[in-house]
Amino acid sequence: MRIISHVDELSRTLEAARRDGRSIGFVPTMGFLHAGHRALMAQAKRACDLVVVSIFVNPLQFGVNEDLAGYPRDFESDIAACTAEGVEIVFHPSVEEMYPTPMRTVVTVTGLTDRLCGASRPTHFAGVATVVAKLFGMVGPCDAFFGKKDYQQVAVVKRLVRDLSLPVNVVECPTVREDDGLAMSSRNTYLDVPARQNALALSRSLFALVDSIGAGERNRLQIESDLVQSLGSSQGVTIDYAEVLTGDDLTITESIEVGREYVAAVAARVGAARLIDNVSFTLDPSGKLLADLGALRDGLPFVRS
Ligand code: AMP
Repeated sequence: MRIISHVDELSRTLEAARRDGRSIGFVPTMGFLHAGHRALMAQAKRACDLVVVSIFVNPLQFGVNEDLAGYPRDFESDIAACTAEGVEIVFHPSVEEMYPTPMRTVVTVTGLTDRLCGASRPTHFAGVATVVAKLFGMVGPCDAFFGKKDYQQVAVVKRLVRDLSLPVNVVECPTVREDDGLAMSSRNTYLDVPARQNALALSRSLFALVDSIGAGERNRLQIESDLVQSLGSSQGVTIDYAEVLTGDDLTITESIEVGREYVAAVAARVGAARLIDNVSFTLDPSGKLLADLGALRDGLPFVRS
């Protein structure tokens, strides 16, 4: 495995690989890699000839009072994870390499960023879209793998690629959960033992929502208020948002209709962490509920015990 820290070396190397007829799978990350990231690498490895992982804590996507300085890092263990997944290139640039001069170009994806994390972190998605556009420019034509754990982020990236005609195929991968349902996140390291227990309220409230839709509830307002009620009454949890939106354009809907994807997304402060989670679901033409609750670390669908 090769560790590359310079943009021109990365671009040249990947250009040469493409000339040799090899397909590129790209997994952008901020490091402190866990089984969720590793699932993206494994999926990239199955689909592509060469996998490149970027590890870059992007200052642009952190608000002024957020956790940029304290964001967890462990490069050695990240390298071990990438090696174990058969990654060929790790791109690990410095902030100066990524942003050699102050940025005068900012990529904003409108509409999709009005709600959820876009509302509570107003500068976040411009930071994400800008760094992702830069990384896509550096990597070149590729399949790029993103986790549904960050549902709104995938929607933003897919739209960015479409609107700017970028030569990238965005592949969505399921949310990887711990056995008890907690969505894996680098920020779970901020949780002490009681907070780790309290954090289960996020996934549990989302699973309860899926159950209520499975039992026939179709009124979005009712579903959303039940979600707010169950998450908000959980010990040690302060809700940031809990919403049910259409999956394609992330807008509000009156009722849950057949044939459309919806997403129930939550963000909450638990102990020292701000955590997010979501489930997406569709009613098939016969009215049967198809819900994506995510996967376990071995890739099998997550099933509640
Ligand atoms: P991050 O390092 O948090 O910026 O995440 C890098 C990529 O890993 C993003 O595409 C995330 O959506 C994805 N990711 C993070 N956590 C998970 C998870 N639990 N399951 C699946 N993908 C994840």
